[in-house]
Amino acid sequence: GPTLRSMFEQTVAKYPEKEALVDSRIGQRWTYYQWNLEVNKLANALSANGIKKGDKVSTLLFNTAEFATTLFACMKIGAIFNPINFRLSAKEVEFIVKDAKPKLLIFEKATAERVKPLAKEASFIQYWSIDEHDLDYAVNYYDQIDQVSNKRPDCDLDEDDIYSIMYTSGTTGSPKGVIHTHRDMMDQALIMTASMRLTKKDIGLSVAPMFHCAELHCAFLPRVLIGGTTVILHHFEADKVIETVREEQVTTFFAAPTMWNMMLQEDFTKEDFQTLRQGLYGGAPMAPALTTRLHEAIGIQLLQAYGMTEMGPAITVLSEDEQLEKAGSAGRPLMNHEVRVVRTREGWPSEPDDTCQQGELGEIIVRGPSMMPGYYNRPEASQEALFKGWYHTGDIGTFDQDGYLWVRDRLKDMIISGGENIYSREVEDTLFDHPGVLDVAVVGEPDETWGEKVTAYIVKKDENLNEQILDEFCKSEERLARYKRPRHYKFVNELPRNASGKLQKFKLREKATHILE
Ligand code: AMP
Ligand code: MG
Repeated sequence: GPTLRSMFEQTVAKYPEKEALVDSRIGQRWTYYQWNLEVNKLANALSANGIKKGDKVSTLLFNTAEFATTLFACMKIGAIFNPINFRLSAKEVEFIVKDAKPKLLIFEKATAERVKPLAKEASFIQYWSIDEHDLDYAVNYYDQIDQVSNKRPDCDLDEDDIYSIMYTSGTTGSPKGVIHTHRDMMDQALIMTASMRLTKKDIGLSVAPMFHCAELHCAFLPRVLIGGTTVILHHFEADKVIETVREEQVTTFFAAPTMWNMMLQEDFTKEDFQTLRQGLYGGAPMAPALTTRLHEAIGIQLLQAYGMTEMGPAITVLSEDEQLEKAGSAGRPLMNHEVRVVRTREGWPSEPDDTCQQGELGEIIVRGPSMMPGYYNRPEASQEALFKGWYHTGDIGTFDQDGYLWVRDRLKDMIISGGENIYSREVEDTLFDHPGVLDVAVVGEPDETWGEKVTAYIVKKDENLNEQILDEFCKSEERLARYKRPRHYKFVNELPRNASGKLQKFKLREKATHILE
């Protein structure tokens, strides 16, 4: 049957002369024909080094052409692609590598320092670097592919074969490897192609981290399979993104909400974004005020995807024309996805028939064609997460009367103060409405009287901003009920976020606990 490999090869056959990939880091451009030969070469080099169907290949790479080539080379021989977050510490990488047990790890100069300590711990792996390095146990990627054939490798592949293992951020507990099959990602790519109205004429920019499913599966993969062009930026720099959009005539790209916020702080005009027909965001909530400001500054509306690694990731989409009217909502379920809100129980997922009333908050559960078959090596965690065939997201939300889903908070980020539930996101969105606020995170900090107290971490845009101004702002126009108003403001230079733009609230809470002790 069809697989991601056969879909890729069909695209290559249909559009051999079309530009597929542009990588400014090495100043190179490939047509689909040329890129496919490069992919074949790497696939043959992997085989020559003992990597077979079902073996894992890990990458510790930023956004690079080599990352994209590795992804498709793995498909060609049925190897399992395991992209590792390039921001993780050496210890975290070691955890993943010991769990996934890849045969090969591909890295680069920018990640070499974290690969160094691994060699002793995980000597069962081969190490290849895409650029020069001083590690004596590692070899050069280009030396490996230099002498091999560019002929299409043979491989007996099925749609139910595993395509990837991707580790979730692991903000609580140790990271878990999410398994996805070829079928999962074919379905996700098709649905996203339709939702984004993507065509072969699209020129996309991959600047959000490609190791993360939001960029990889919602943006990059569908774009390749439809025959579009991808311009790769090694990492995010707001001015570089705007310059690239202008120079490469980019029509669509995905960025985390915090990246859009950083772009907004740059000097630009609508002209710079003239070719852009669509901006995408997801992976974390965007404050409604930011949606409006972006619309005013860039002149286009954005498309939002909500989802999680376990689901492929997208499960709902808020399209451009709904963006202003339903700002703050995550939109409606994607084609062929079932989303429900159910009453949660302490310590164990809900029975799927405990459906909430419209407007009532509960846990979001979901079922769809791209749902993971389970976590790698974690039968118990898989059973719990996929209780009765529904993936339990750990997100709190509700449906409104028009069928739009509103994601209020992570279950674990909800604050309980004086017995009242407070959704940190509501407080964040309100504070973000104040023009003097550049960034904000709201967490519950331990408090002897109230159990938890609402604490706001603020990055200032306006130097004169202070606690009193913000408190007045929350009080005025009944923006926030008294019990939701922050008891405490802390002004900081930046907030802890992971590579995909999610607030790492556990770091803020950890800090608070230490102060208390
Ligand atoms: P990950 O699997 O690492 O991408 O994390 C998934 C989690 O990110 C979800 O369970 C949500 O809590 C959050 N998330 C993803 N997309 C959105 C979105 N559009 N709005 C709000 N939260 C989001
Ligand atoms: Mg499936």
